[in-house]
Amino acid sequence: MSLVVRILSVVSAFFIAFAHSHKHVDGSSEVRQGGLPDTWYHPADHPIHRLFQRSNPNPPGSPEWMAQYPLVWQPPIPESATPKAWLDSLIGAEEMGLIPNISIPIAIPNENPQYPQGEDPSQEPICSSTFQCRDPSDHWDAPDGFVGIGFDDGPTPASPQLYSFLQQQKLKATHFMIGMNVVSYTQIFDQAFSVLNVHTWTHPQMTTQNNTQLLAQFGWTIQVISDLTGGRVPRYWRPPYGDSDNRVRAIAKYVFNLTQIDWNHDSEDWTIADNKTTLPAVEASITEWYKGPKSPGLIILEHELTNETVSGFMDTYPILLANNWQTQSTVRLFDGPYRNAQNNTDAVSSMDFFISRSPTPTADPTSGDNRAAPPPSGTIVTVAETRLAGASGTPSTSHNSASTLSRFSIPFFLALGSHEQ
Ligand SMILES: [Zn+2]
Repeated sequence: MSLVVRILSVVSAFFIAFAHSHKHVDGSSEVRQGGLPDTWYHPADHPIHRLFQRSNPNPPGSPEWMAQYPLVWQPPIPESATPKAWLDSLIGAEEMGLIPNISIPIAIPNENPQYPQGEDPSQEPICSSTFQCRDPSDHWDAPDGFVGIGFDDGPTPASPQLYSFLQQQKLKATHFMIGMNVVSYTQIFDQAFSVLNVHTWTHPQMTTQNNTQLLAQFGWTIQVISDLTGGRVPRYWRPPYGDSDNRVRAIAKYVFNLTQIDWNHDSEDWTIADNKTTLPAVEASITEWYKGPKSPGLIILEHELTNETVSGFMDTYPILLANNWQTQSTVRLFDGPYRNAQNNTDAVSSMDFFISRSPTPTADPTSGDNRAAPPPSGTIVTVAETRLAGASGTPSTSHNSASTLSRFSIPFFLALGSHEQ
């Protein structure tokens, strides 16, 4: 069994490595010469499903249910709890050279992580987002005219009033959830009807974690969200403190196929509790941004931590409306929220993948659920159909069937069958 898993890891890592080696060299033509459609090798095609099978059938919140997760608030998360499939995938990515071997900085309380002397984290090969290095795969800005609606650190006891407000206003939001908070507040989690993405298990400075620790931080958060949502696999994450670098990005991307969402304005609402700012000061900042230029659009760092942080959003929302912004659940600015489902109510399909084909959504003011219109070529395609679509073909949006499967799909089927926890 383990050999099969290992082989599959290497096989999938090969596809990804092939993709990666071309991505920065040539946008598409080099691969087209090989007769493959350019979408075939997009990193979003990762065979993620084999890592997250629905695995916790116990009643959510019960002791039996909680026992399926590592209940720790302080990292490291015990490595003995890490599913072998995740470890195998990490090892496969490491062996393929996909995970940069850069220094792990030292954590210093209330300071930025400290890299060794002589290494510049604001540059390649480190490219730390703490030091404002932006990788092209990150999302920092919203499209012009849009405000991304999103909140970090939930679910908490302050969340329900926010959720009620969002519902009243018919607003969809992205909640970057902390895994341990999800385990602690499953009933509040259930009230978050909007999209749910990853804010790590215990909220560490991720660059200070080693590779296997990163694996657990990402993996368990995806696992609990998936377990509580009928198997939906998140496709986006936000780094706590905005702290990520090329090593962290690579594990997010190549093991879990997560894309990083940053922000372009920090409300600093999270410092109210430390008396470093006040709610009126937070609201003054947000008001200024809402009244300011519409290019780029706004992704504001806001939290569902306390009643005050939630008020910062709710109190200023009329100003957003008065200034004619379009709103969008943050991750909908870029694509669908889940790897294997359109939203919180559509069926989960273990065979379908979302593929990022258009980074900038087209505004659709007539849409009832305040989401952007899908990219022109369609947002959902199957792996097999993408590969069969031809170099210039438009992938079908229909669902998979046995007759459309190519030989390239076979490893993924085997992977599904060989999953072990
Ligand atoms: Zn946070």
